[in-house]
Amino acid sequence: MRFPLALTAKIAGHIIQHKLRRTPKFALVLQLEPLHTCNLTCTGCGRIREYSTSLKDMMSLEDCLGAATECDAPMVSICGGEPLIYPKIEELVEGLLRQGRIVYVCTNGMFMRKKMRDYLAGVYSPALEPKLAKLLSEKLISDKDVEAIRKGKTDGRPTIRPSKWMYWNVHIDGLEYTHDLIVEREGVFKECVEAVRMAKIIGYQVATNTTVYKETDVREIEQMFEFFSALEVDGHTISPGYEYDAAKKDMVKRLNRRPEDFFLTRQMTREKFAKIQEWGERFTIFGTPVYQEFLAGKRELTCTAWAIPTRNIRGWKAPCYLMTDGHYAGYQEMLDKVDWDKYGVVDGVARDPRCENCMVHCGYDPSGALGTNYQRGDNWKNFKYNFGAKPRPYYPGRSVNAFNGFSAGKGHLAEAKAALKSAAADNGNGAAHVGISCGSGDPTERDQLLAKIGSKLKVKTG
Ligand code: SF4
Ligand code: SF4
Repeated sequence: MRFPLALTAKIAGHIIQHKLRRTPKFALVLQLEPLHTCNLTCTGCGRIREYSTSLKDMMSLEDCLGAATECDAPMVSICGGEPLIYPKIEELVEGLLRQGRIVYVCTNGMFMRKKMRDYLAGVYSPALEPKLAKLLSEKLISDKDVEAIRKGKTDGRPTIRPSKWMYWNVHIDGLEYTHDLIVEREGVFKECVEAVRMAKIIGYQVATNTTVYKETDVREIEQMFEFFSALEVDGHTISPGYEYDAAKKDMVKRLNRRPEDFFLTRQMTREKFAKIQEWGERFTIFGTPVYQEFLAGKRELTCTAWAIPTRNIRGWKAPCYLMTDGHYAGYQEMLDKVDWDKYGVVDGVARDPRCENCMVHCGYDPSGALGTNYQRGDNWKNFKYNFGAKPRPYYPGRSVNAFNGFSAGKGHLAEAKAALKSAAADNGNGAAHVGISCGSGDPTERDQLLAKIGSKLKVKTG
């Protein structure tokens, strides 16, 4: 099976239950942001900027667990910020698993190995020695780590343990050179790869999470899938980036530039995702085939952002993960008070100009699962995709030149900063744009940076 039976059955059961009850709107995935603090400052990340006044604030564990109970989504995606910085992340993951939810920990990968060493210490017994020897031989832990693991864990706190109900969801926006430039720190891609390898040895489920921007080289994304498929990751989430209408208007009015020079329009998204269905056959791409058809431009869908609500320190964020028109105290209150008919694109016509080019997974993937634009055969397609054979790991992916950051260690970050500086100068505005986190924010800076990366790579490799 492409996805584990228990997980597929849980989500299908949740949808069927609500359909039978005729619940008009309900949650499928909760995007839970316990905090907005992050150890990285990725180019174009909106979360650390939109919520910059509350970086030190965080939700209490009780509020986090209460939010999951309140909306009762079968899946919870813990994001942020960097959720592994949340001081009670172990208790949060454990609490959500105890509630019977499927948990995705969306992370930039930098603290994963630390959390996994903690798990190993928590369960240490001599029977673990062969696994430690393997991790040691693969240079994923050090002798000092082994010593610490053998001492065990004494703080009485839980750890993040492997479970068929839990995935590490690692943010990766390209191969080494591109990814490290975007996250503005050398060595992040390498650390992510090591964390993924360690997780797979220990027995965790791992997915990657990628956003595609105007300048994203689709061939590189394909190579990235090949590389991570060879590492036997369990799935991939991929979504087009989102553009902000305000930034677009500013570009026309103040800079006299054409928005399509910078932003991913619907047409461009469709071109970028032309091969999504082929990728879905080759790799374990999360998301329904109906959403894949939408991305490839083969059909229209209506936004169902209410099915993937976002809860953060300020409340339930409406109308969606991307746009903020308000925060509400309760999920039901948000469902009742927001005029959902004001948002989305229906038959190609944007009901809100800010939605015009949005095709992101948190707005439209649930539409595919919920059958809001049902066409004959959709149920069968979704069933066949979910219950079909899981694509086999693509072992030739081992030969992908993933570590192409040939200037890593020689200061390519300086180059990134120069690129950013000149991008800001081109834009006539050095200030950071308000966007969104982990690859789904205002793509202006990223697109410009990616364009510069592309031209530099051509010069260096040409
Ligand atoms: S179309 Fe996109 S931006 Fe608009 S409400 Fe839906 S998810 Fe949000
Ligand atoms: S994109 Fe994610 S990892 Fe990067 S700064 Fe934002 S929250 Fe942190």
